[in-house]
Amino acid sequence: MTLADRISAAQDQNKNKYICKLIMITKDPKLSKKDIDALTEVINSTEHSDGHIPNARLAHALREEGYDVSASAVDRHRGGRCACYRKAGEK
Ligand SMILES: [Zn+2]
Repeated sequence: MTLADRISAAQDQNKNKYICKLIMITKDPKLSKKDIDALTEVINSTEHSDGHIPNARLAHALREEGYDVSASAVDRHRGGRCACYRKAGEK
């Protein structure tokens, strides 16, 4: 690994440090753009949006696809209380 590769890898790790488990799924290289778009849309939907899926049901669907995510993780992300909303340097 060259130094440039190593720096780039460290930057990638740092990027993922401040995202929660739910958003981590949207970074899964196995997913197609269509999957990621659909997932992102449903994550960002509110109970008034078309096609909205409640937290528990979304978590269940993701677990069926093999992702370890709980309803409370979905709830924290949608409520802005997850790692995604923490600023660098904060714990
Ligand atoms: Zn999040």
